[in-house]
Amino acid sequence: MVSEQWKFLQDVSLLINKAKELGIVLTGGELYRSREQQLSYFHSGKSKTKTSQHMKRLAIDFNFFIDGQLTYEKEKIQPLGEYWEGLSPANRWGGNFKNFTDTPHFERFL
Ligand SMILES: [Zn+2]
Repeated sequence: MVSEQWKFLQDVSLLINKAKELGIVLTGGELYRSREQQLSYFHSGKSKTKTSQHMKRLAIDFNFFIDGQLTYEKEKIQPLGEYWEGLSPANRWGGNFKNFTDTPHFERFL
């Protein structure tokens, strides 16, 4: 749905600005993922599920650099994750997932 994707992308723009404010440099990972790609990730163990908000263009993955060092440590990315979840009740950060930690992942879930 275009309107949901648009709300999602507007929050992503705020997230990118917040990262800058926090001194976190971002590079982009996946946004859209096909069904075939998701199933391939599931079968290889890279993903735990056969569906994903990426398939609806409602999730994005980032890489984080702090002081020039690549990191995915939850404690270091926590302020950004909390900011994301504070933007909308529909926003979820992968760092807070119960079954596995996925810090690069930011999604809109309805
Ligand atoms: Zn993801």
